[in-house]
Amino acid sequence: MSSFKMNPPSRVSSTLILIIFCLFSSVRNYSNKINWILDTTSVLKDKTIPKRLDELVKLKGIGRKSANVILRETHQKPEGILVDLHVLRVVPRFGLTPEYKDANKIEKILMEKLPYSMWNDIGMAFSFLGRTICRPTNPKCTICPIHTDCVYFKKIPNT
Ligand code: SF4
Repeated sequence: MSSFKMNPPSRVSSTLILIIFCLFSSVRNYSNKINWILDTTSVLKDKTIPKRLDELVKLKGIGRKSANVILRETHQKPEGILVDLHVLRVVPRFGLTPEYKDANKIEKILMEKLPYSMWNDIGMAFSFLGRTICRPTNPKCTICPIHTDCVYFKKIPNT
């Protein structure tokens, strides 16, 4: 914690800062994330959290990935598809997109290819698959629920 400098807005109480610190101190890049949250509290002041993607991404630390998650969790209409590091790995393996490191590019292709009715859940589904089954090394293809359609699986000898 020695190099951690917080810039809390004056109206944020030290109790709240302590709670935020306890909740986030085990998270990667916690100092940046805590400062983004504190910055957001001062930007939003008494306004509510935006309900549109173009407004959410104006907040510090909020990119399209987080904005898509916020829209989903607050039951708004989807405006995109969640693409995190797991989705970035899984969808090219599966054969749905070419391999790109750019999440925005992958999201755009998914939005073009997949029906709007799937946008809310498909990113989360691929992310969960990536976390549990389609791991970076040794994906557990034999227990994967979508292996019959997977390009990677079809290339494995004797399958
Ligand atoms: S079959 Fe294998 S490579 Fe394809 S999505 Fe499932 S776990 Fe990933």
